[in-house]
Amino acid sequence: MAITKVFARQIFDSRGNPTVEVDLHTEKGLFRTQVPSGASTGVHEAVELRDGDKSAYMGKGVTKAVSNVNDIIAKALIESGLEVTQQKEIDDLLIKLDGTPNKGKLGANAILGVSMAVSEAGAAQKGVPLYQHLAEIAGVQAPFALPTPSFNVINGGSHAGNALAFQEFMILPTGAESFTEAMKMGSETYHHLKKVINKKYGIDATNVGDEGGFAPNVSGPEESLELLMEAIKSAGYEGKISIALDVASSEFYKDGKYDLDFKNENSDKSKWLSGEELAALYNSFIEKYPIVSIEDPFDQDDWEAWSHFTKNSQIQIVGDDLTVTNTSRIKTAIEKTACNGLLLKINQIGTISESIQAVQLSQSAGWAIMTSHRSGETESTYIADLAVALRTGEIKTGAPCRSERVAKYNRLLQIEEELGSNAFYSGTQGLSKGTTAPALKQ
Ligand code: PGA
Ligand code: ZN
Repeated sequence: MAITKVFARQIFDSRGNPTVEVDLHTEKGLFRTQVPSGASTGVHEAVELRDGDKSAYMGKGVTKAVSNVNDIIAKALIESGLEVTQQKEIDDLLIKLDGTPNKGKLGANAILGVSMAVSEAGAAQKGVPLYQHLAEIAGVQAPFALPTPSFNVINGGSHAGNALAFQEFMILPTGAESFTEAMKMGSETYHHLKKVINKKYGIDATNVGDEGGFAPNVSGPEESLELLMEAIKSAGYEGKISIALDVASSEFYKDGKYDLDFKNENSDKSKWLSGEELAALYNSFIEKYPIVSIEDPFDQDDWEAWSHFTKNSQIQIVGDDLTVTNTSRIKTAIEKTACNGLLLKINQIGTISESIQAVQLSQSAGWAIMTSHRSGETESTYIADLAVALRTGEIKTGAPCRSERVAKYNRLLQIEEELGSNAFYSGTQGLSKGTTAPALKQ
């Protein structure tokens, strides 16, 4: 079925910043998608086109990206006569139309909205759920798997107004039997954590950050890990819930060193850590806490530190800013053994077809895949279907709190119900193959 109309508009994301929404029409109806936006964005990501006009929306308007859809992409797509089920051909056309290596002309935010909407229309044309259509595009065979959720329950870094440098402290119900049970464990532990934080720091400290996690003013990462342990224990899930970190360390890499006090203007330079010192800190945490995964432990271009750490560790090491869902960066990371897991963010690369290629390349190297939201999100549930379709064993989409986060988890509950015994819950199998963290031996 051909595309009859494509129309984009500017809407708002969960942080109140403008973002792109795309309406795509076929004879089957209207297919509407929204594009997310990051804060701790990697320098190698595809270009998110913003107007830059400081007099409107603090320079964050997306009217140029919207016009690129309405004036350029819409016409080209309709004239191409391509069917909405021809995802690869349409994505190739979008890439060609842009013509730059980083989607800098039309904007990855313009292109992605269209690419997502095409797949929604493709699923409708076939009369199948989005996850099934995407699985067919990617050649993924049954059975389907529900991903292990990684709930970001303590927010720091560039996502919170506290002193904490590490960006995300996540809990993974690796010991759950189903996605539904994982949600129960995550939600209960989240509420226990709220009580623990309230008792220690007072009610003010239970306000939440950009991804729905709490943002108490703790002294450092160790104190956050202790809070998680207390919450897991009081919820009764010791040994069943593991911990993952997203350090997002590119945010505080300065002059070849890591500044754990980067939000303080008068940070003491003599306390900044070398890559080796930071690795030693991680190892001390891995020994003491049930940590099974660390994302972006080092800066996006500090390849040596990544390789050294990954070669010497027994946990999952996830590339986000390092790999940016880009096959050429992933290839380098495979060659250098820089990590063993991919964070999949569709807006880092800009089309669904290239996202699938990034996943397949990573999987061929034995890596684990964690599908991911962005810190600036919308009501879109697209990534829930994508995670099931590509059998990414993990997903992170924030705390079990705030509707732009919970929308994705809720969609996964629906999918689990729909698939019944035709799907399994990933649990520890979702983690990268080499993960033999002490936490998993309990
Ligand atoms: P971002 O954060 O969306 O702000 O980049 C998410 C992450 O770093 O994983
Ligand atoms: Zn990250």
